Amino acid sequence: MIKKSLAIVLSIVLALTACAPDVPGPTGVVIVNARVIDGSGGPSRDVNVRVVGDRIVIVGNFEPSAVDTLVDANGLVLAPGFIDVHSHHEDGLFEMPGALAAVSQGITTIVVGQDGSQQYPLAEFFASLETSPAAVNVASYAAFGTLRGQVMGKDYQRHATPEELAEMAGLLHTEMEDGALGLSSGLEYDPGSFSAPEELVELAKVAAAYGGRYISHIRSEDQYFWEAIDEAINIGREARIPVQVSHIKLAMTRWWGQADRLTMKLDEARASGVDISADIYPYRAWNSGFSWLTTLFPNRDLDRRDGAEYILRDMLSPEGILLPRFGPEPAYDGLTIAEIAEIRGSDPETTLMELLKADAEMGGRSPMLGFAMDEPDIESIMAWPHTVIGSDGELAGPHPRGFGAFTRFLGHYVRDRNVLSLEAGIRKMTSLSAQQVGIVERGSIQVGHYADLVLFDPDTVADRSTPEAPHVPSVGIEKVWVNGQLVFDGGQVTGNRPGKLIRRTSP
Ligand SMILES: [Zn+2]
Repeated sequence: MIKKSLAIVLSIVLALTACAPDVPGPTGVVIVNARVIDGSGGPSRDVNVRVVGDRIVIVGNFEPSAVDTLVDANGLVLAPGFIDVHSHHEDGLFEMPGALAAVSQGITTIVVGQDGSQQYPLAEFFASLETSPAAVNVASYAAFGTLRGQVMGKDYQRHATPEELAEMAGLLHTEMEDGALGLSSGLEYDPGSFSAPEELVELAKVAAAYGGRYISHIRSEDQYFWEAIDEAINIGREARIPVQVSHIKLAMTRWWGQADRLTMKLDEARASGVDISADIYPYRAWNSGFSWLTTLFPNRDLDRRDGAEYILRDMLSPEGILLPRFGPEPAYDGLTIAEIAEIRGSDPETTLMELLKADAEMGGRSPMLGFAMDEPDIESIMAWPHTVIGSDGELAGPHPRGFGAFTRFLGHYVRDRNVLSLEAGIRKMTSLSAQQVGIVERGSIQVGHYADLVLFDPDTVADRSTPEAPHVPSVGIEKVWVNGQLVFDGGQVTGNRPGKLIRRTSP
C-alpha cells in the first residue's frame, strides 16, 4: 500500500518535472508574450512572469509548466499595479468593494487617511477591512485634523495647549502602533487650519520615531503658497522626517510660470538634507467644497464684494469655477459661474456672493471644480524627479480623477505629450511611489514581490471621465491582478476581493 502510493507520487513528480524542468512547485499563472516594464525605470523586457499564490515567483525566459494557467498578453505592457499615494477611494469602499473607479485605471493599492482626515481609529477600520476586504490593498496615514478634533472637539479655533498636544501625541502613538504610514495634515481645512506650526513639528516627531512619514495638504495652495512650502520644509528639518507635499500645484494665476522656482526651492531643501517629495494629479482643476471659497473673503464675510473680486481676479476666472452639483438650485448643476451669471442677468462677482450664501444656508455641501492650474506648470512639476502620481480621487466623487487620473497620466501626459518615457512614467506610479510612502514588497515586478499587476495597451490607454460625466471607466486597461487574483478583466470588476491591509514596516 505504502509502496504503491509512493510509486504514484513518484510518477506524478517525474511527470511534472518532465514537462517543467525549470518550474518546480505548486501550479501557478504564467503571463506570456508581455512587454514587461518592471517599475524600476529600466527598459522593457520580453519575459514571462510566473505567479504562485499572491507572489511573483519567476521573471524571465522560462518554459511554463503544463500545470500552469497561461495568460497570453499579446504584446501588451505588464507593469506593477499602480500605487495611488493620495487617495480618497476608501469613502464607500465597504459598499463598493470591487472599487471599479480604482481598478479600472490600474490602481491596486490605495493610500488613504489623507488631507488630515482618517478613518478613526485605524485599528477599527483595519479590523473591518479584514472582515470585509476590498479588491484593492489599503494603507493609511494617521491624520492630524482627526486627532486634533478628537482632543479639542468644537473648541478648535485656536492653538492647542501643551496638554492637548500631549494628548494628540498619545493618540498618534496608538495609530502608529496600529500600522499608520505616518502623519497626514490638511492645513487649509478645519480644524487643522487653526493649528500653530509647532503642533505639526511635535506630532511629526512622534511619527518620525516610528520610521513614519509626513504628508501634507499644505496651509495654502494659492495666496500664501511659498510660506506654506517653507512650513512643510521646516517640519521635515525640525522633526527629521520625510515630507511629501500632497497634490502639488501652482493654483493661482499670479504663480503661473513659476514651476522652476518651485522645483529649485525643493531641490535646495533636499540638498540641505530634507527628504521632501511630492505627488500630483494630472488635471488643471482642483476639487473642493464650494463653501471653501468663503475662507478667501475678509473675515469670511460674504457681503465683502472685494472678496469676490479678489477670487475672480487673482485665483479663478468665472469660467474656471464649475459646480457639478448645486444643492440650492439643481438647474445650475454642471454650470460655471460665468454661465450662471448670464442666466441670472447678473455679474460674476454678485453671482458668486449670492450662490455662496445660498449654499451656506443649506449647510455648505455643494462641491466645486476650480480650474486654477496651467498646463506647462503641471508638466514641469510632473517631470521633477521626486514627483509621483496620486489621484486624490473618490469612488463616486464629482472630479473625473476618481476614475481617470492614472490613465490620463499614461495617455495624455506620457504618450501624447511625451512628458516622460513610458518606463519613467510607470516608475512614478509604482516603485518610486512605494518608496516615498514607505510600502515594501510592492511596486515592482521582481521575484518575491506581491503579484499586483496591470496589463494595458500603451497605444490606446486613456481616461474617459470628464467633469460632466466623472464616472466613466478608462479604456486600454485589460487585466488587473491584486495579490495574484484578477480583480478587473474585460472591462468589468471580477468580484474577487483579495486586497490586503498594508501596515507600516519599520526600518
Ligand atoms: Zn487635499
